[in-house]
Amino acid sequence: MNRRGFLQAVLGAGLTVALGGCGGTGSLPGGVASTVASETLWLALQKLLIGPLLRPGQVGYVTLATPSNLGFTNEPAAIAHCASVADVQACVRFAHTRGIPMVARSGGHSYAGYSNTVGLQIDVSRMTGVEYDPGSGLARLQGGARNANVYASLGAVGRTLTHGRCKSVGVAGLVLGGGIGFNMRRYGLTCDNLVDTEVVIASGDLLRCNAVENSDLFWACRGAGGGNFGIHTSFTFNTFPADAALTVFSISWLSDLDALLPTALTTLPTAQDGLGIKLSVTTLGILTLLGQLAGTPAELRAILDPLYQIATPDVEYIEVLPYWEGQEFLSDPGEPAYYHERSRYAYLPMPAAASVTILEFLRHFPGTSLGANWKFFLSGGAIDTVAPDQTAFVHRGATLISSIELDWSAYDDARRVAAAQDWLAAFHEAMRPYTSDECFVNFIDGSQTDYLQAYYGANLDRLRTVKRRYDPDNFFNYPQSIPV
Ligand SMILES: Cc1cc2nc3c(=O)[nH]c(=O)nc-3n(C[C@H](O)[C@H](O)[C@H](O)COP(=O)(O)OP(=O)(O)OC[C@H]3O[C@@H](n4cnc5c(N)ncnc54)[C@H](O)[C@@H]3O)c2cc1C
Repeated sequence: MNRRGFLQAVLGAGLTVALGGCGGTGSLPGGVASTVASETLWLALQKLLIGPLLRPGQVGYVTLATPSNLGFTNEPAAIAHCASVADVQACVRFAHTRGIPMVARSGGHSYAGYSNTVGLQIDVSRMTGVEYDPGSGLARLQGGARNANVYASLGAVGRTLTHGRCKSVGVAGLVLGGGIGFNMRRYGLTCDNLVDTEVVIASGDLLRCNAVENSDLFWACRGAGGGNFGIHTSFTFNTFPADAALTVFSISWLSDLDALLPTALTTLPTAQDGLGIKLSVTTLGILTLLGQLAGTPAELRAILDPLYQIATPDVEYIEVLPYWEGQEFLSDPGEPAYYHERSRYAYLPMPAAASVTILEFLRHFPGTSLGANWKFFLSGGAIDTVAPDQTAFVHRGATLISSIELDWSAYDDARRVAAAQDWLAAFHEAMRPYTSDECFVNFIDGSQTDYLQAYYGANLDRLRTVKRRYDPDNFFNYPQSIPV
């Protein structure tokens, strides 16, 4: 079933649909389907675990099964709510030896629902411990920690790293796909802060990966995305002192977008590395700058002066706050929703013609109850001090990530969503002359063609070699996973 067919099925019939996840597909082969339906099977697994094994209908099951992207809701045969590394190992061995489809789930924010399965969901989301060592400045996070745990634990010790602003996103998915955040131009990507990780591979063995041990897998874990090689149970990061004072801002204009957008596209990429910024333009015609500057409000005003020359903002919030208070202001709860996002990396400053295209598409949006927006995240700075082949994350040297976000709700009928999806596809294609064909794997997109090349570029062959070494049976797989 194609995407439109799927949406029609979900929205038109109001169904809960099982969709392909890692190692799982919407419909299982007969033998596997009867295996996963067996109560005895799951009783046997529960006996091996400390954490609970939840089956449909049990308390807590729906909360754990519900992903961030509601378009991909499904019903796993069982959810192992792992309490320890040994639980993860037991689940992997159990599923591998019996050929049971499974997925790893941490924060559940895969854009394309790739932490969903109709088999076994190996859920590490209760493994959220964080230990900080003041001597080394290293923070060790358990595999299920979320941005919220980073906020709380590093906030308490006055440290930071490159984290996301959505508190419910899992650090596992974030770091494995690279990880962008408002600190990235200062401190690099989240994966650039990673110094060590532990991962349970298909055999059930726990491997330690760092610059010395299993360094090929460590290379791959920094940018190849989750779900490809094993289930990570810990991540150790370098940390940085949290600023005593940081300028945070949210500034919006409701008019003059035709002049503001091209100016922003040429001005902002020249700003110092202390600027972390997201620009968005909505279908309602609002242009917003959201971000932080390691600097003063006066320095921010100097960067933004070309925009202020065009028009005074309609909404302006600029404040100096201690780092973690500033992050609270910038944070987003990231509630489950219906959405589809499509990204492209841009390596050159976008010409004025790009702004015309962007604004034309936004003005001709066919409409959903929640609208759509185009945005960019400024890249560069410390990200580019690492070579494209030094980690699996290949998009070094890019100016920005361009992304189109389409949102809708259960109130939109299937025809409306389908028209909006067509608009999104046309918009994504229309951005091609101004961007590269590279896409961000953390904004994973089930409708992207040539996706392996788009996510990994020149690093793809090496990733295949790592895959063959650590997961020769392709046990860890999903519709866009790295093939053997
Ligand atoms: C609201 C929102 C805000 C976001 N903000 C940012 C942002 O600021 N910066 C950014 O870079 N990205 C951002 N993202 C994208 C996000 O980083 C990716 O979607 C990421 O994959 C989510 O990780 P997760 O653990 O929450 O998701 P999950 O759905 O649990 O996992 C994502 C993938 O990783 C696999 N996986 C999960 N846990 C593990 C594990 N322990 N070991 C191995 N594989 C695992 C899953 O099987 C799946 O394939 C955002 C996404 C959303 C929805």
